Amino acid sequence: MATKQVLKGLSPEELKSFFQSIGEPAFRAKQLYSGLYKNRYSSFSEFTSFSLGLRQKLEETAELPSFQVHKDLQSKLDGTRKFSFIVGEQREIEAVWIPSEDGNRKTICISSQVGCTLACEFCATGKLPFKGNLKAWQILEQVLMVEKLSGEKASNIVFMGMGEPMHNYHSVMKAASILSDPDAFGLGTRRITISTSGDIKGIERFIRKKEPYNFAISLNHPDPEKRGDIMGIDKKYPLEDLIEAARNFTRTLNRRITFEYILIPGVNMGQENAKKLKRLVSSLNCKLNLIPLNTEFNGWRRPTESEIEEFREQIKASGVPVMNRRSPGKDINGACGMLALKG
Ligand code: SAH
Ligand code: SF4
Repeated sequence: MATKQVLKGLSPEELKSFFQSIGEPAFRAKQLYSGLYKNRYSSFSEFTSFSLGLRQKLEETAELPSFQVHKDLQSKLDGTRKFSFIVGEQREIEAVWIPSEDGNRKTICISSQVGCTLACEFCATGKLPFKGNLKAWQILEQVLMVEKLSGEKASNIVFMGMGEPMHNYHSVMKAASILSDPDAFGLGTRRITISTSGDIKGIERFIRKKEPYNFAISLNHPDPEKRGDIMGIDKKYPLEDLIEAARNFTRTLNRRITFEYILIPGVNMGQENAKKLKRLVSSLNCKLNLIPLNTEFNGWRRPTESEIEEFREQIKASGVPVMNRRSPGKDINGACGMLALKG
């Protein structure tokens, strides 16, 4: 039997070609597209505007695959919920539902790869064997599944789960375009954030294509001699070049860039590092997100509240907006860098 065409994750044009290939008019593509992503239909039987004959034809030639839910963990500390899904043999990915305290913002953190090749020293995902890129439909399916399981719709999406989005550029952007398409999920482009560990080739591509999404770079260390100790990618794309790429982003697109900065006591905190970081960020149109370390690898520990505050105060003098990111779902390993930890 011929393999069935997966209809999730296809662009409207690709869907048109599919319908033409089975001898159906092109306008069916639009109906299927909005049925999947506006109405969140998950099976052909829900497309009641299609004739029985067409639904049967679709069953025979195409499919709407989904994932099996492996874990569903609810935080006792806040509303965070972490899910893991089976996406193929020995392949598991995670996505996290993160409602804000005031309930206004409902963020889903999604994965772009199964594991990650970059193995940053502080990150749990990097400790897993890398098992490949996710397809566009598998990226979107995380959103559909989390919404279905939580019974609510997301207001924001962040590509900050497992994987390096720039290493799966095409599928990530395809998924993002469907998430932002008014005929599909209809999320504003600035409600979608894509984060990179500093892959300059990917950053340049993002600039060249004028991608409209929020963009974040995981800076994590302000010292060109030391960043490479915690992030292997720095050896390929050194800090000075990364800052130039960020500057190019802000100038060419005339937009602010976000830097993420993990806080690891004894590694990248303290006055010297604060000074260096201040110098770096004050020369750029950017904002800074401080993320307290969540894991305890390498004998490292999480920073205390007063250490976080002290560091933040030092940076604030630069005039750059500094956000202190909460660490949601700590008890279920749902926070940044904890995906792939047990439980
Ligand atoms: N690979 C991409 C996106 C996923 S990681 C990237 O590195 O940007 C998302 C964010 O989680 C990054 O900013 C990363 O620095 C942060 N992070 C990773 N491990 C962490 C940990 N143990 N504690 C806190 N933040 C962590
Ligand atoms: Fe990969 Fe990002 Fe984790 Fe580094 S921090 S190992 S790039 S997922």
